[in-house]
Parts: sequence; structure tokens; C-alpha cells
Amino acid sequence: MGKYEVPQLPYSYGALEPYISEQIMKLHHDKHHVAYVNGANAALEKLEKARKGEAQVDIRAVLRDYSFNFGGHKLHSLFWPNMAPSGKGGGGPGGRIADKINASFGSLEKFKAQFSDAAKTVEGSGWALLLYDDETDQLVLTQIEKQNFMHLAGLPILLGLDVWEHAYYLQYWNDRGKYVDAWWNVVNWDDVENRFGKATQ
Ligand code: MN
Repeated sequence: MGKYEVPQLPYSYGALEPYISEQIMKLHHDKHHVAYVNGANAALEKLEKARKGEAQVDIRAVLRDYSFNFGGHKLHSLFWPNMAPSGKGGGGPGGRIADKINASFGSLEKFKAQFSDAAKTVEGSGWALLLYDDETDQLVLTQIEKQNFMHLAGLPILLGLDVWEHAYYLQYWNDRGKYVDAWWNVVNWDDVENRFGKATQ
């Protein structure tokens, strides 16, 4: 059995400046993401010990803990490659994902406006996500509260935006809207297109 591991950032800590600071990226990746990985591994160990009769666990609490930390790990593993260094990210998508965004949302501008609206209005800590629904062959949006995977079950995520305060507060303070607007400058559309390709194979 393997363990969860923190993936390397696909760029340097400072690569997203000026839109997301080096300090935020260091703390976010090296502290927060690491904590989720450790938490998910610890939860699985507790369950294993319980099965061996070495410990008693409150299974509901441990599974909730597992879901929280697993969700954090998976979402951050998506979030890092969803972004690209300043100058390389941003702009708009090409290829099939561009067509699908137009078909699903009317235009790129309308998609960005609605996704931003979703991100800015998450209550407390959470995420805005773009997903693909193969049943209706369209892209859909969802909000996640905190990071537990209580989202539209089974739909692959193409793009995610972390709007926990740890993702922006050191640079943008309480102005989440400014962070969301700036974040579009580092969206890695190639990564979104690749994920869409896998989702529609
Ligand atoms: Mn985060």
C-alpha cells in the first residue's frame, strides 16, 4: 500500500508573482498541502490499527478527517498545475475546451464572470470548480465548502480555484475579489484542455 505524497510545484515559488506572492506559495504548498497529506495518511493508519485490533476509533470522525485531508490533497494537487508562471498563463483557452466553454456558457467572458462570481461568493473557506458532466455533455460549475469531497459526485474537475484565506490573505488581505480577478492571469489553459481531453476520451 502506498502513501499520499506532496507533489513538487511545477514552477518556482515566485513564478506566479505579481499575482500570487512567493510567500503565499511557500506556505500554501510546504505547510498547508503537507498538512493535508500527513492528515490523510494518519487517518488511514488509524483505520488500519482499528482493523488489527490495536486501537479503537470513532469511525465517523476518522472518515470525516480522511475526507477533509484527502480532499485537500487532491484539490491542491489539481490547483498547482492549473496555474502557470506569469507570462505563460492567462489569456484564453484553445482547441476543444474553448468550443465547449462557448457552448456551455455562451462565451469565455461569460464563463469567467460566472466562475468568478462562484469563487467570490463561497461562504467561508472553499473552492470554485469547473467540471465536465458527460451525461449532458456540458461543463458545469460548483462550489465546495471547505474541501471535503461533497461535490457533484463523480464528475471530473477541470479547473479549481482555492478561496481559503490562506490562499490570498497575506497579499490581498480581505479583498478576495481582487485575488480572484488577478488569478485569471495565471490560469494554465493547456492543463485545463488536457484534463478535458481525458474526461472525454
Ligand atoms: Mn489551500
